[in-house]
Amino acid sequence: MSQASTKTRIKIFLERLRPLYGKDPIEVHYQTPFQLVAGVILSAQCTDKRVNSVTERFFNYLREPQDFLALPPGRLEELIKPTGFYRNKAKSILGAALGLVERFDGRVPESLEELITLPGFGRKTANVVLSALYHKHEGVVVDTHVIRLSNRLGFTKEKHPVKIEQDLMATTAPKNWYDISHFMILHGRRVCMARKPACHRCVIADICPSNLSQLSPQIAKKKGFPQKKIVLGAPLKPKV
Ligand code: SF4
Repeated sequence: MSQASTKTRIKIFLERLRPLYGKDPIEVHYQTPFQLVAGVILSAQCTDKRVNSVTERFFNYLREPQDFLALPPGRLEELIKPTGFYRNKAKSILGAALGLVERFDGRVPESLEELITLPGFGRKTANVVLSALYHKHEGVVVDTHVIRLSNRLGFTKEKHPVKIEQDLMATTAPKNWYDISHFMILHGRRVCMARKPACHRCVIADICPSNLSQLSPQIAKKKGFPQKKIVLGAPLKPKV
């Protein structure tokens, strides 16, 4: 597949998915910058819906890094337990809070270089926070959904997140770096699921080389798709 055709398909991907997912790509609820940081850390290996149902119980009084640091030992772990991996997550949230208070006067910094020096901040978390808070796009967030969709859609042939990020950055305008990854994440959760992609109701099926309706059973098996026959229906129409 040529780079030009990849660019064209990325353009179509963004145009078709923007009406569906473009309004509020961040699904984690927050009112302060640090609540976003905490929410993104909590969303690892957990659905945003569950994160929101957990954080709504304490975000009314835990707003700033200092509020989290003032909690009695072990209290944060109790509060966030339903999100899973709560010990590590509590450690990351408190580490990030302490780093912000000690080195950035409690403010979430605006550069990737500074953010990734904080505990709990990998490139992915830092990019989500930078994009959502400051509309700065210094990279493309690559998580498990982006790895899967960018390969299925033929936007990359790479499997390693850093190489996938490089490919997507080379073929997508910087102003769309935030949207492309968030649209893939949301589409991956709602339509292009890992084991059962719903190609029959996918608005980008016509530009997707992995569209199940067009794959031979052998190729579908090779790509790891389920072998059950999929009944095709009318594609989902984007809301205008
Ligand atoms: S056509 Fe199927 S494989 Fe391709 S993006 Fe849509 S749901 Fe995923």
